[in-house]
Formats: sequence, C-alpha cells, structure tokens
Amino acid sequence: MSNRIVNFSAGPGALPLDVLKSVQQNLIDYKGAGLSVMEMSHRSKEFTEIIEGAEASVRELYKLTDDYEVLFLQGGASLQFSMIPMNFIQKGKPVAVVNTGSWTKKAIAEFKKFGDVEIVASSEDEKFRLIPEFKSFKNGNNYSYTFITSNNTIAGTQWASFPTSDGAPLIADMSSDIFSRPIDASKFDLIFAGAQKNLGPSGVTLVILKKSLLETANEELATMLQYKIHAKNNSLYNTPPTFAIYVVNEVLNWIKKNGGLEGIKVLNEKKAALLYDAIDSSELFYCPVKRGSRSLMNVVFRVKGDNEELESRFIKEATQKGFSGLKGHRSVGGLRASIYNAQPYEGVESLTQFMNVFEKSVVVNA
Ligand SMILES: *Cc1c(COP(=O)(O)O)cnc(C)c1O
Repeated sequence: MSNRIVNFSAGPGALPLDVLKSVQQNLIDYKGAGLSVMEMSHRSKEFTEIIEGAEASVRELYKLTDDYEVLFLQGGASLQFSMIPMNFIQKGKPVAVVNTGSWTKKAIAEFKKFGDVEIVASSEDEKFRLIPEFKSFKNGNNYSYTFITSNNTIAGTQWASFPTSDGAPLIADMSSDIFSRPIDASKFDLIFAGAQKNLGPSGVTLVILKKSLLETANEELATMLQYKIHAKNNSLYNTPPTFAIYVVNEVLNWIKKNGGLEGIKVLNEKKAALLYDAIDSSELFYCPVKRGSRSLMNVVFRVKGDNEELESRFIKEATQKGFSGLKGHRSVGGLRASIYNAQPYEGVESLTQFMNVFEKSVVVNA
C-alpha cells in the first residue's frame, strides 16, 4: 500500500482504504458465494442483501421516515438535471433556483428545456465566491419546485445552513457533500448525488425523494426516466449498476463504523480548519472564497497575484512528492484540494507541510 498517492481529486474521489481492501478481499469470491458481485444476478439473495443494506444505511444516516423513497439510478447527477424537470415541472409554474455556480448553471440549462426558471438569488456577479444571503423560497405555491446545490465543487462554496421552501418541493444537488455532515433531510423533497465524489465509484446516483412528489409526476415519459417506475421496482426495474451499489454499501458501512455523520462532521471540520488556516496564514497562498461560505469538501486556493507559473510549479512539485488532483477546475484555474470523507487527517497534514516547504523555497528564491 505504500505506493498509494495522496489523492485530492474532485471526482472520482478517494475511497476509504479499508473499503478497497474489503472489496479486494471479496473480489473473486464474495463472502463464500463462489463468485464476484459483478457476476451475480441482481435478484440473487446476496445482491438483495447488498442493495437492501445500502438503502437501510441511507435511511439510518439521514434519519428518513417512510415518506421517502431511496433509489439507486444511472446517468449520473447530470441525468437528474433532466429527470427532475421532466417529472416535476407543472404547466405555468416556473422553477425557483439559487444560482451558486457551474453545476447549478448546468441544471438551469436543462430546466429551461421544460419550463421557465426564475433565479431568486445568485452569486454570479461575485464569481461565485460566496453563497448569497438567502433564507427562504417565498410564494412556494407559484413554483413547480425550488432548487439549490448544497456544495459547489468548482467554486469551493457550501451552504452552512439550508433555506426553507414554503409550498414548493425543495430539491438539492448534494453530489459533492452527501453524508459529509448530519442534515435535516426532512426539509427536502428530493436529494440527489452522483456517487463518485463522496459515496463510492461512478456509475450510480443516489436519489432520495418524498413519496408525495410521485403523485403529480409526469407519467407520459419514457419508462426509464420515471422515478415512479424505479420506486415501484425498488431500483430493480432493469439491471442496476450492481458493483457500484456494492461499493456504496461498503462506504456507508464504513461511515457508520467511523462515528456516523456526527463523527464524520467533526473530522471534516478539523481537516478543513487545518487547510484553511494554513492558507490564510501563508504569505504565498490565499483563499478567494468568502469566510462563512467556504466548503469543507473542496478547498479552493491560489498563489497571490494569481501567479499561474508558480501554481504550475506547485502542482508539478506536489506531484513529485506523491500528491495528486490539486489542479483547480479547468474553467476557473488555480488550485483545489478536495478533502472528502475518505481523505484522512494525515493526508491534509502532509499537504500543509508540503505547502510550507514550497512557500519557503519560493521566498528564498525570490
Ligand atoms: C460532479 C458534479 C455533478 C455531475 O455529476 P455526474 O455524475 O458526472 O453527472 C453535478 N453536480 C455537482 C455538484 C457535482 O459536483
């Protein structure tokens, strides 16, 4: 294991080493079944236990009541940007959105294909460097649904507390901070997350939705695009991404073994504080994201003066030292360290030590 790098990739992101080891151990012969999870029927006893276990853990971690469905779908978070408006936009009722970044904009573009969109708050003028002041969606009955992105993977911002939505269903893209902290899931009517940031491998998307939403869902859509069909069939209408669901189940069990969401939250706050403190106290680096809006998952930072040459050198030297994934998203440049649940404290600590050494070398050579 000694040749594993310290992985700060924004997605697919690092997985817990314990999970990888367990998957490896069971790869060829899953718990004595004589075959791998990849090779078994999605209706077998073994896989039924896996998918039911994953659903039970999702329910336990977010304390979901029976009013909610838990689905494991395909098509990534991006297909949710389309399925949500197709299923839930009602004639004459626009969608209300708080625009907090690139992923929200992608969602908005899809919503507009099926109805009107009203941007009720936005931080676009501030280059998405903060979450706008926004407490509640008003006049909910006039909207088909309301929409936020809980954590902005690219801009490095995160909602510290969530708005309320009176009347209209509240929908959240939680792709990059799902299960990173306890939340009041009962505030939401639909939560979705592509698994590959904080939950498992790519290929499966978790959707948590209130059963009442299905009552008014569009039934004229292609079968595979209807939440109702997937709900009725417990995510087994067709062959689900079995191996990805298996790994998600292992990750959920790992969260439960490591203090649950309370424990994960404490560790995530500790990791983020260490890194933000290192950046804020540095002579070389700075964080463009406003305090109070900073993400505990994706830490965006830059070299002062937005010195791209030094940023490239930082990435190059970091790579030589076994750190990876530190380049900012191609749309914004700069630097970014994604410190999802699976990133150990020691990984963040070693990064801050390297940043310090790099800073000294730059100052000495200046
Ligand atoms: C990565 C990401 C997406 C896109 O996910 P895919 O599964 O690749 O479609 C959407 N929203 C957010 C917030 C993301 O971080």
